[in-house]
Amino acid sequence: MAFDVAKIRAEFPILAKPIDGHALHYLDNGATSQTPLAVLEAMAAHETTHRANVLRGVHMLAEQATQAYADARADLAGYINAADADEIVFTSGCTGAINLVAQSYGALLEPGDEVVISLLEHHSNIVPWQMLRETRGIVLKALPVTDDGRIDLDALDSTLTDRTRLIAVTHVSNVTGAITDTARLIEAARAVGAKVLLDGAQAVPHGAVDVAALGCDFYAFSGHKMFGPNGIGVLWARAELLDRMPPFLGGGEMIHAVTLEKTTYAPAPHKFEAGTPPIAQAVGLAAAARWVQAIDSEGAAGHIQKLSARILDGLANVPGARVLGPAGLQGRVPVISFDIAGLHPHDICTILDGHGVAVRGGHHCAQPLMDRFDLAGTTRASLQVYNDDGDVDALLSGLDDAVARLA
Ligand code: PMP
Repeated sequence: MAFDVAKIRAEFPILAKPIDGHALHYLDNGATSQTPLAVLEAMAAHETTHRANVLRGVHMLAEQATQAYADARADLAGYINAADADEIVFTSGCTGAINLVAQSYGALLEPGDEVVISLLEHHSNIVPWQMLRETRGIVLKALPVTDDGRIDLDALDSTLTDRTRLIAVTHVSNVTGAITDTARLIEAARAVGAKVLLDGAQAVPHGAVDVAALGCDFYAFSGHKMFGPNGIGVLWARAELLDRMPPFLGGGEMIHAVTLEKTTYAPAPHKFEAGTPPIAQAVGLAAAARWVQAIDSEGAAGHIQKLSARILDGLANVPGARVLGPAGLQGRVPVISFDIAGLHPHDICTILDGHGVAVRGGHHCAQPLMDRFDLAGTTRASLQVYNDDGDVDALLSGLDDAVARLA
């Protein structure tokens, strides 16, 4: 049976809402995806029947909220095939998750220890390590990027040393859409005894992630890019690492016992979740994971591939257009960044906006990558399962209009 995109679209009321008199063509999913009714309803049901704080009250609602929060953790563990629910730490987002690793795993590092990132990282996987360099004297190295927008793994040999403690790179680039060859990367890391953190912000929205099969040590992602609410993300880490890592935020919920002289901490994951956590958001994120698991993933992948192919073909006919990333459909997700010679991405976005087309223009929080390609920014169309041919038509005709008006 063909993938029924109309049925999927009906689950996202925002897509039917005209923007300034135009049908909405939402192609900014790399920034934030839209949320299906199932997620909104799960959060509303929680807030109207079980809302209370977690892990501290003994009254009925507090117990129900605590159970809902624990169930969400277990659902997320199942979603990414974690060995144990306690390996799931809820954070404020992918940024929060990476900062947690930089601060807490970073506290175990010695001056001169090396952390390896890449030139195509999102700023949230660059800045925390620079901050760690300031505070702990680690050495920060960056793998280069190939001309087709991939992390250049040929440079692993000359970059890794016996001081490399961690390789922290993106699983999927938010600019070029390239999927990192994690097997090769992890094999190289193991050879020098280094741990591997994968930034999964752009990977989890495009298919099931299995941390056991990947073989990494840390995996970070955000809820709002995978049909869930914002204000929540996940850090998965191996239990033995979480056990060794000290907490980096102190407060309620993360303690075992507190006296004025000394505090002992609760075991992971609680020692990393100081303060009231994002409870309804956790419920919503678990609902998003269930929603993703219920859709026809093969049909969805085929549908998105067809749309991506249409965009890539269309761009090939736009004068001066250059796609920043892998040519063709292999080894990439539907995050398509392009430059049109002589046209500023913000001007392109403004004209597209006039056609109801929402795309992102700018440096995409990846300025070192822009420098690598000598660009101030790109225009990025990023697709999701609810996009349809009408969205691609609007993008391509909007680009024709942009070229006609701006060139
Ligand atoms: N990493 C990548 C690859 C991303 O695309 C993003 C979001 N653009 C982030 C990290 C940060 O995610 P958040 O802002 O949700 O914390």
